[in-house]
Amino acid sequence: MHALFKPRLVNDAFGDPGLYVDFCDERRALLFDLGDISRLLPRHLMRLSHVFVTHTHMDHFSGFDHLLRVILGRKLGIVMFGGPNFLTQIEHKLSAYTWNVVHRYAVDLVIDAREIGVDGGEQRALFSSRRQFAREASPSFDRSDDVVHNETTFRVRGRFVDHDIPCLAYVLEEKARVIVAKDRLAALGVSTGAWLRELKHAVLTGAPDETPIQVQWRDRHGEHAMTRQVGELRHLILDVVPGRRIGYVTDLRYTEPNVATLSELMHDVDLLFIESVFLDEDKTHALRKNHLTARQAGLIARRIGARAVVPFHFSPRYEGRSAALIAEVQAAWSATSVLGDEKPD
Ligand SMILES: [Zn+2]
Ligand SMILES: [Zn+2]
Repeated sequence: MHALFKPRLVNDAFGDPGLYVDFCDERRALLFDLGDISRLLPRHLMRLSHVFVTHTHMDHFSGFDHLLRVILGRKLGIVMFGGPNFLTQIEHKLSAYTWNVVHRYAVDLVIDAREIGVDGGEQRALFSSRRQFAREASPSFDRSDDVVHNETTFRVRGRFVDHDIPCLAYVLEEKARVIVAKDRLAALGVSTGAWLRELKHAVLTGAPDETPIQVQWRDRHGEHAMTRQVGELRHLILDVVPGRRIGYVTDLRYTEPNVATLSELMHDVDLLFIESVFLDEDKTHALRKNHLTARQAGLIARRIGARAVVPFHFSPRYEGRSAALIAEVQAAWSATSVLGDEKPD
């Protein structure tokens, strides 16, 4: 099966939260949260097209400076999404430095910052190195319902959960996925090759049916080539199935409204990254800190029907005890019987 992208956590489970999503066929990536990103190589950061910030606590936003330092003078643009007050916070970060030479850099960096309002009211501003990162108002961006970003091959939805402050939970949705029908490919008398990757990419990006594909392959009789159209090949050898959905949930309280919001946003996600900060024996402390316990994370995963779960954002107090946190998530997620005390407040 051909995946559009591959997600991975930026740090280990005790490190700052962050999810790096690399595209398989393009030099391109997305990042969810912007805390300590020093483990990402400059070439990984250069690939980022969009960054989605959940909220601006330091462990989710302090990497802004590191990112800026790597891409400044080298990259043309980056889009950043965040919640209430995000534009002002970007502006303040940028105004903390002196920019008397950047306007002369050959490559002008434009930060396209997009603020998602709790009750609608999106705002957008541009910050260009050519203008010493002065804030420039920009027409707002399109947000229909909870879709904060939409492209041909994928979309990102976001909704607010309560972490004492509004915090965005995101779901990344591949719009479709293609499967090669190996038997039909064999019946056609051709074999796989670079052309197949080209065909899959054409189908996923919505290329017109008449787009030509140069089918080239080699077998024991030698090299072969023929030209066929995308529309023709698609029906012959590809099956298009629904794409994979990936949830990114961090920093929230275990409350019924939060769980209900997540259920609506990411019901039946294929893969759920979810904070599991404390052990359930410390749940009073977790509530005071506005975080989930591992068991609560597992219960949420079960309630939303997540098919796979990756816990992260472990408190440093459990250093050396990650197995206990993971076991607690797994037990609650896979439990078949309904436990008595599982209801959130
Ligand atoms: Zn956090
Ligand atoms: Zn936080």
